[in-house]
Amino acid sequence: MPLHVCDFASCRQPSVRKDGACRLCERRLCAIHNDASYHDCPSRETDESRWNCASDKALQQEISSLLSSFQPDALQARASELRGGIPCTLEGATYDSAYVRLALGGMNYHLNIRFQDDVYWICRLRRQNASSSPPQLQERIVLSEVATLQYLASAGIPVPIVYDYAVASRPSPLGVSYIIMERLSGEELDWYSLGEQRRRRFLSQFADIVIKLRRHPFPLIGCLANPGDPSVGPLLADNTADAVDGELDLVGPFSSWTKYQIAIIDRQLDLISHREAYPRDSVEAYLVHRYLRDYIATYSPFQDLDRPAFFLRHMDDKGDHILIDDDGNITGIIDWEWAQTTCEAQAFCAPFFLLDIVSYYDGSNELSEYEEVFAEVLEEKGSHDLAAHVRNGRLQHRLLHCIAGDIDDRVWFPNLFAGLLAALQGRNAEDPKKMWLEWKASALDKYQHEERLRNLIRSHPV
Ligand SMILES: [Zn+2]
Ligand SMILES: [Zn+2]
Repeated sequence: MPLHVCDFASCRQPSVRKDGACRLCERRLCAIHNDASYHDCPSRETDESRWNCASDKALQQEISSLLSSFQPDALQARASELRGGIPCTLEGATYDSAYVRLALGGMNYHLNIRFQDDVYWICRLRRQNASSSPPQLQERIVLSEVATLQYLASAGIPVPIVYDYAVASRPSPLGVSYIIMERLSGEELDWYSLGEQRRRRFLSQFADIVIKLRRHPFPLIGCLANPGDPSVGPLLADNTADAVDGELDLVGPFSSWTKYQIAIIDRQLDLISHREAYPRDSVEAYLVHRYLRDYIATYSPFQDLDRPAFFLRHMDDKGDHILIDDDGNITGIIDWEWAQTTCEAQAFCAPFFLLDIVSYYDGSNELSEYEEVFAEVLEEKGSHDLAAHVRNGRLQHRLLHCIAGDIDDRVWFPNLFAGLLAALQGRNAEDPKKMWLEWKASALDKYQHEERLRNLIRSHPV
């Protein structure tokens, strides 16, 4: 049984993991029933005004339903009890579209808890919609996020303090899963709007954080599993999870980086073959993963990454996970729900916001100006090995964006993949579209006899 089955009538096919989840009609649909001939919800691309209207309505229903799933009084009482009886009020406990715009993340909704002495906490609740992970996986993600935040706080990394948490399947004062945590001050980092002086100050402080993270190695690759315990458990991302007979089937933890990469590639190949991932571009997606599987298994420099000292990485490092004050000082790093350990080279390549995005998406592997500056800052602080990870980080960026990446982005993915091919050869992609087409033809030729690929070609000719 897949993670989710199609909600269309009596169809029992696996639903498509990402694009098959429709928040408008709250259904998960398979590759067949997600087609416009069966599924007539408006799409953003073809009818934006109808989509906006339906999307607002769906969001109101979703958040109203979430807010009615627990007693606000119970949350107030719990928060007040945790602060020795100081009374508090809640913000966002009834649906308010202006508040929701500020308090909504991709997977979470935040209520503000305001105490009488003007101290603020937040209550982080998992959103429940067609895109949400299954309940068992959501609970493990909540526990992992708490474990990660606790670990990082003890390591001196500026993260919100966790005051309380619970998951729905165990006794919970609210009856739902939640994390009550400190509300940090500061605004989300918008790297592009920072002036030069604030950028320098930011990079110096960010380097100090990275240096601290480097002092905390782990023996395995995976996600922290349980609060109060630094043990590493399986990976908890949706695209690495599956289900067998109603039970979660997770991969990891791993004792080597190549085993980890091959396991997540194998999971993708399964999902592609079952039409749970990339149904419109299944042949290309199969070839990309199949090729990388062979490459990673045999490319000897990758075996250097297998040494068992692995490090935590925030897997969503676009920049808005870092809070800063008006002077560019870092006040904290938030949203660690997808954090996992990985090899040193991947954990410490530059965060994505330091890249020159235009050049990166054109297939260039040149370091950006601020990757170079960041490497220099690390060197000035005596961390020459971390500086080297920043300077050599492009291959890791390319792998992170190609394995389970946006292969269905037909405009940009050829450039990203050509960039990866070139990075493996230590060069730039000169003509990415041409490289992609030539590579695709040779990969089709190489793997044409594989049964799973032949099935995909039969149902989706290239
Ligand atoms: Zn729909
Ligand atoms: Zn279906």
